[in-house]
Parts: sequence; C-alpha cells; structure tokens
Amino acid sequence: MNFYAKLLLLGSTCVAFIAFRWSAPSFNKESLKGSRVLVTGASTGIGEQLAYHYARLGAQLVITARRANVLEQVASKCLELGAQRALFAPADMASPSEAEKVVQYAIEQLGGLDYLVLNHIGPSPYGMWDGDVEHTRWLLEVNFLSYAQMTQKALPTLEKSNGSIVVVSSLLGKICGPFALPYAATKFALNGFFGGLQHELAMQKSKVSITICILGLIDTDSAMEKIKGYINMTAYPSHEAAWHIIEAGASRRPETFYPWYTFYACIFRDWFPYARDQAIQKSYTYNPQVTKEQVSGR
Ligand code: NAP
Repeated sequence: MNFYAKLLLLGSTCVAFIAFRWSAPSFNKESLKGSRVLVTGASTGIGEQLAYHYARLGAQLVITARRANVLEQVASKCLELGAQRALFAPADMASPSEAEKVVQYAIEQLGGLDYLVLNHIGPSPYGMWDGDVEHTRWLLEVNFLSYAQMTQKALPTLEKSNGSIVVVSSLLGKICGPFALPYAATKFALNGFFGGLQHELAMQKSKVSITICILGLIDTDSAMEKIKGYINMTAYPSHEAAWHIIEAGASRRPETFYPWYTFYACIFRDWFPYARDQAIQKSYTYNPQVTKEQVSGR
C-alpha cells in the first residue's frame, strides 16, 4: 500500500471514529415508561424541558428547584403530558441538608430511583472576574458540592435499580474562556469528580452508570441574557438539548456532546493552543472603557 493509500485509510478511519462518537445515541423509549426520575433545576430552562420529555415518556417524576409556585406549574404540565406521577420538592442547593432531603423524598415517594438528573446551577454574574471569592465559594456549593452530596445519598438506591446518574456540564468545563470564571470552575470540578467516579464505579463492578453531558450555548433565557453584548453565536434549542441528554442517559453513555461542535472542540482543544486562545479571545466583544451596564444595554 503506498503512502497516499495509507493516508486515505487513516483519514477515513478517523472520520468513521468521529462520526461514531458523535452519532446520537439510540434507546428504547418504552424503557423509560414508569421509570423513577429526579430532575434538579427543573423550574425553567433545560431542566424544565427535561421534565416535559420524561413526562411524555411516561416517567414518574420528582422535580426540584427553589421556586415552589413555578415547580407546581411545571409538575401539573408534566401530568398533562403523560407523566405517571409528578411531584415537586422545593429546595435551595446551597444547603447541604436540603440537597440530601430532596433525594430522600424522591426515594420515599417513588419507592426507589432509576435516574438522578443533576442539572441545576445558581445564578452567577457574567463579565471580568471582580475578585469575589465568596461568590465562587457559594457557587461551588450550589453547582458542585450539592451534586456530590446528592450522588452520595442516591448511590445505594441506584445500585439496587441498575440506575443512572446524568450530570449536565458544559464546554466551559473542558475549555477555558473569559467572563464566567466561577461558573467554569464548578463545571471543571464536576467533570473531574464524575469522570473519576466513573473509573471507581467500573473498578468496583458497580451497576450504576454516569453520563456527563457537555453542552455548548443553549437558548435558555438565563444564558441569552448573560451573553448579550459579549458574544454573537448560534444558540441551540433547549428542548433538543434536553432530548439529547435523556437519550444519552438512557443509553448509559459515559459522555455526550451537544451541539455537534462541542465534540470537535474537545478533540482538537490541545492541538494548536496559541491559535485556540487567539480565536477564543477574538470571539468576544470587550472594551475596557465600557462598563458592564453599557455592555448589556441596561
Ligand atoms: P437556568 O435556565 O438558569 O436554570 C437553572 C435552574 O436551577 C432553575 O430551575 C433554577 O430554579 C435552579 N436553581 C438556581 N439556583 C438554585 C439553587 N440555589 N438551588 C436549587 N436550584 C437552583 O439554566 P439552564 O441554562 O437551563 O442550564 C441548565 C444546565 O445546563 C446547567 O447545568 C448549565 O450549566 C448547563 N449548560 C447550559 C448552557 C446554556 O447555554 N444554557 C450551556 C452549557 C451548559 P429556581 O430559580 O427556581 O431555583
């Protein structure tokens, strides 16, 4: 085989591998009927869409976030859409005891748990880091430590049911970018923690699967509000992101990427670091003379 033939073979193998890794996971929708699911951060955004998809698939749901009145509305829509059960448990994930209580409540009410879907995030400012370490500490509690806490509480029950943990993470937990440092730190922490836990569970021959979901920009109200005036890029629909997360979790994939470009960004992340950093910095609008209020047009 000559050099060009070898190159072609290598190239097509790479393309096939990449296409395989990216291809959307397929799963049996019936398998989710009656499954017992706890979704966090379900009052709005991707979490709300996750709740509606699980409801259409006939799951039994417990949803949580801080605002009880909004959760109540989401839960009643879940019942209309076909959920076998839809309960809600208001909780502030900044409190370790509340995070644990929610898991306990879901296990008691549903008689066990098949899916723990960790999706919530606390609000965080967007812009140059202002040196507020206290906020970073608080955000780590909400976006990271509560995930670990809920996992620890749910693991024995998930082990009995061959259950799954689905962790909603971000491209900002894989590649560094400006303007969202505390948020990105919590997402890097999640990827490190749950990536490590995947190894430990496999070494212990555990029956629990963990799916880490790497998302790019999704069109939720909170994300759109944050990036306004800073970056102009396509935001992908939250209902599609939610569906992709559910498919990947049900297929017990270790890692999944949505939309498509997040996969390639992670593969090529370290190939040309200088060009990557230039491209990242140039893609944002930043003028040191302009205040944050002027940027967001408020
Ligand atoms: P979102 O619209 O801001 O929703 C956040 C959810 O978390 C809400 O239900 C909120 O409800 C809840 N929450 C906030 N603070 C809380 C607290 N202290 N305790 C308990 N719940 C709290 O977020 P999203 O845009 O849908 O993002 C969902 C997930 O996708 C996150 O993990 C995020 O990192 C990831 N992601 C999103 C994007 C994007 O562009 N949107 C990109 C990459 C990754 P309450 O206010 O009622 O508590």
